[in-house]
Amino acid sequence: MSGLDDIHARIKAAAAKAGRDPVDITLVAVSKEQPLDRIESVLESGHRIFGENRVQEAADKWPDFRKRFENIELHLVGPLQSNKVNEAVELFDVIHSVDRDRIARRLAAGFERTGRPLPCFIQINTGEEPQKSGCLPGDADTFIARCRDEFGLPVAGLMCIPPFDEDPSQHFALLAEIAERNGLAKLSMGMSSDFETAIAHGATHIRVGSAIFGERKTP
Ligand SMILES: *Cc1c(COP(=O)(O)O)cnc(C)c1O
Repeated sequence: MSGLDDIHARIKAAAAKAGRDPVDITLVAVSKEQPLDRIESVLESGHRIFGENRVQEAADKWPDFRKRFENIELHLVGPLQSNKVNEAVELFDVIHSVDRDRIARRLAAGFERTGRPLPCFIQINTGEEPQKSGCLPGDADTFIARCRDEFGLPVAGLMCIPPFDEDPSQHFALLAEIAERNGLAKLSMGMSSDFETAIAHGATHIRVGSAIFGERKTP
């Protein structure tokens, strides 16, 4: 799978430039809206960490792949609706999009019920875009504390999706700053167009779709 090899080479180079060890950077292959044969060829090449942005779409394709390939780790990278939380808790291994009390509370209940406390990232709307999900930067410290102390979520780190028409650097830097002051080690940031910049700013999880799989089908 040449797309994947190419991304690994670019991760290595970006890590070297930033004085970081590439093993500290997890590549989440975002397979949303991709044809099944492309996903299968990435699985055949040995990659096991994938991301989906919709619960329903993940439910349609991943149970089958899980039967055929061992040790798949599935990350939910898209917004979570409260009526989908229980299904998400069954399907995914990591949640990148915790952004409000209602979701945090339902996740906590789901983890309790299944006995599987999934690592969570809190999504921060660093660009304060009205249409985008995520906690506002000004509310972040309070929400992070509530997720940990009140809901008891295993908060691993923070996630952001910068506005597509802005330099992502300032957004990655802001996310890193909020994580640092809250003692959070993991940063989910960087996509096909900007993952090298994200690595320079400390990304530990990059979410790369089209650069691995090719262009998506129009949904
Ligand atoms: C689709 C998506 C990605 C991957 O986007 P590419 O530009 O194809 O790399 C990453 N993160 C989230 C949240 C997404 O929805």
